Amino acid sequence: MAIQDYFLPKSLEQALDLLTEHGPALLVMAGGTIAMPLINDGISMPEKVMGLRHAGLNTVRRQNGTLVVGATTTLTQLAQQTDIPMLQEAVRHIGGWQIRNMGTVGGNLFAPPPAGDLAVALLALDATVVLASKQRGRRTVPLAEFFTGFMTTALAPDELVAELHIPLPRGKTSYIKYARKHANTPAIVTVAAHVLTEAGKVVDARLALNAVGPHPIRARRAEQLLLGAPLNAETIAGAAKEAAAECEPFTDAIATDWYRRRMTEVFVRRALERIAE
Ligand SMILES: Cc1cc2nc3c(=O)[nH]c(=O)nc-3n(C[C@H](O)[C@H](O)[C@H](O)COP(=O)(O)OP(=O)(O)OC[C@H]3O[C@@H](n4cnc5c(N)ncnc54)[C@H](O)[C@@H]3O)c2cc1C
Repeated sequence: MAIQDYFLPKSLEQALDLLTEHGPALLVMAGGTIAMPLINDGISMPEKVMGLRHAGLNTVRRQNGTLVVGATTTLTQLAQQTDIPMLQEAVRHIGGWQIRNMGTVGGNLFAPPPAGDLAVALLALDATVVLASKQRGRRTVPLAEFFTGFMTTALAPDELVAELHIPLPRGKTSYIKYARKHANTPAIVTVAAHVLTEAGKVVDARLALNAVGPHPIRARRAEQLLLGAPLNAETIAGAAKEAAAECEPFTDAIATDWYRRRMTEVFVRRALERIAE
């Protein structure tokens, strides 16, 4: 069955009205870089599609120490903000320029692994997601709680991702995507880290990993090892080992689970060493 209806709402309210009216039969599409190939290959055969490109969700603004990014902000647009350099770094590692021009910040939250190279940076930055529904209004969910499993999220069927709130980092950040090529390539492992030290001790640490789990994950046990310790070679080595132990890597055409785990240790260590420098 070919697509019968294509809707282009002009606001979030219109988009939520359409979602309520048509229910799960309506495929939501932002940049379409994930959704369109599935349709073209006949894997996904929606009768109704709603494009979000004109819904007014593509704004970036700074508000009380937070970067507020609309869900349909393209990756290229995000790379133009200068408040959080780690986000620019993350975007630079996603696809080629065609994908960055079309792909959106919100869409990256739904990318199947090993994609999710922006989402992992957002996780390390402790971002929250604003979800909107016609019936229940808006609710805010920490990104760490938004991901619930492989291709599953906390998004209810009648909700859309409206925006992301990203606190400006207080500590130092580092981002490394390790892959077979330098550009336009899927991750073997991506590491995003945020560490705040005071008086020579780590007082806040967030370590996020991509491509070594069912979705971008926090390495919580490794973070615990960092807290209260000096960010020296011994602490870093211990945290890197723990991150490798707690991640849940998988085997695909790009790398084996064994290799992904080994590289997690290597690249968590490098990411933390960059912060310690
Ligand atoms: C050649 C190629 C290379 C790629 N390389 C990378 C890479 O290196 N790293 C990486 O992370 N990703 C990569 N991707 C994946 C993808 O392009 C990006 O993750 C992109 O950010 C997805 O955004 P989108 O707007 O195009 O998603 P879409 O295809 O528009 O949306 C995907 C799904 O997300 C949901 N969705 C999107 N927006 C919303 C919203 N606001 N509310 C509710 N649901 C929503 C819908 O269910 C939708 O069907 C690549 C894709 C391709 C085709």
